[in-house]
Amino acid sequence: MARLIKSVRGMRDLLPPETETWNSVESAVRDLFRLYGFQEIRTPVIEDLQLFQRSVGEETDIVFKEMFAWQDRGRAESEKGQWLALRPENTAGVVRAYIEHKLWERPGLQRFYYIGPQFRRERPQKGRYRQFYQIGAEVIGPPSAGSESPAVDAEVLEMLAALLDRLSIRGWTLQINSVGCADDRVRFNEALRAALKDVVHKMCVDCQRRAQTNPLRVFDCKVPEDQPIIEKLPKMTDYLDDKCKAHFAEVRKLLTAMEVHFVLNDRLVRGLDYYTRTAFEFTHGALGAQNAILGGGRYDGLSEALGGPAAPGIGFAIGEDRLIMTLQEAATSSVSAFDVYIAPLGPGMNVEAARLARELRRRSVTISLGDETFRLKKSLETASKIGARYALIVGENEIKSGQFALKNLGTGEQVSVPRENIAAKVKA
Ligand code: AMP
Repeated sequence: MARLIKSVRGMRDLLPPETETWNSVESAVRDLFRLYGFQEIRTPVIEDLQLFQRSVGEETDIVFKEMFAWQDRGRAESEKGQWLALRPENTAGVVRAYIEHKLWERPGLQRFYYIGPQFRRERPQKGRYRQFYQIGAEVIGPPSAGSESPAVDAEVLEMLAALLDRLSIRGWTLQINSVGCADDRVRFNEALRAALKDVVHKMCVDCQRRAQTNPLRVFDCKVPEDQPIIEKLPKMTDYLDDKCKAHFAEVRKLLTAMEVHFVLNDRLVRGLDYYTRTAFEFTHGALGAQNAILGGGRYDGLSEALGGPAAPGIGFAIGEDRLIMTLQEAATSSVSAFDVYIAPLGPGMNVEAARLARELRRRSVTISLGDETFRLKKSLETASKIGARYALIVGENEIKSGQFALKNLGTGEQVSVPRENIAAKVKA
């Protein structure tokens, strides 16, 4: 027997009826984003590896450990090609596109959203996959368009709270922090290096490396034994300059005014280097260990780091897989897929049934087609099994008279309906 081929580790199939939930979440998201002026952007899943090295950061777990990257073939057999990567996140791609297509020439702030797969070679577990989906959005533009305003941060956070409410997700927590600007970061990193000097030998090997290369990344450490040490390290918020302090205070003031509840978390730095000032995460108790539904923040220097003009921005990414997990219990699994099962009775009736199906589908009736080789009993059983609401019998007599037997599979009642009234009767 041929060897069974299975899906690759960390990759999974999304099957119906769960995909119905995915679709309804995505359409709720699109509707809400439209109210805030966001438009869809679609960037490629494959990008130049350097894009992520220069934005997310070489020292982050995402780039250092988790990227699917490879060197492409050159044009000639002997030639080595470009280093490529499957995107581990989508902000870098959006900012690359913003620069490449000179989107700053468009008036005002640009508001983009995306929905699509991302790839990280993480250890798979519940809520953590190697291909997962993110729903994200970015607000970006020249400083003259107001892109640095704390009002933008507050608007984005309010939109997220509204989205979770609209999806009836209760029990979420919004955690916020400010990770400051580049200068603050230099001073904070110095303070961290000094504080780590005497303790780092007790920490994990990753932290020992991070302490040298990029001390801020120590806060990404998940090793339990390191946590008491991390607890005692200096706080980012003590190293903010006056402008960053005022920015953060204004964001908090606006959130409070809009009654968007939040908690301050001065250890929240998020695992990506490009963040500046506001950083945030929404967590949910029902998710267990992987409890972050979404995360995001500001990235005021990212465009310049990628060779673009000054274009401060803020964005977020919702883990769609995890968002769906929080909805799973509430989801109704028994959506009936079909209004009508058409049962062709006898030779030649497949043609008539197909015609009738075409007619009814054009009038928005969902149809499952039977087969003329089935006896009536088998047809009715099939119709019930697939959860159709009605069975419609198509035999020679029906075609001649133009009157069709329509059986309500819920009540068992059967009526005779003229061809032109079937759609109305089913929809009634
Ligand atoms: P990040 O891009 O790391 O800020 O992640 C944003 C969100 O994406 C997280 O809050 C998670 O909900 C989701 N996420 C990140 N990595 C994974 C993964 N491997 N599997 C499923 N969801 C993920």
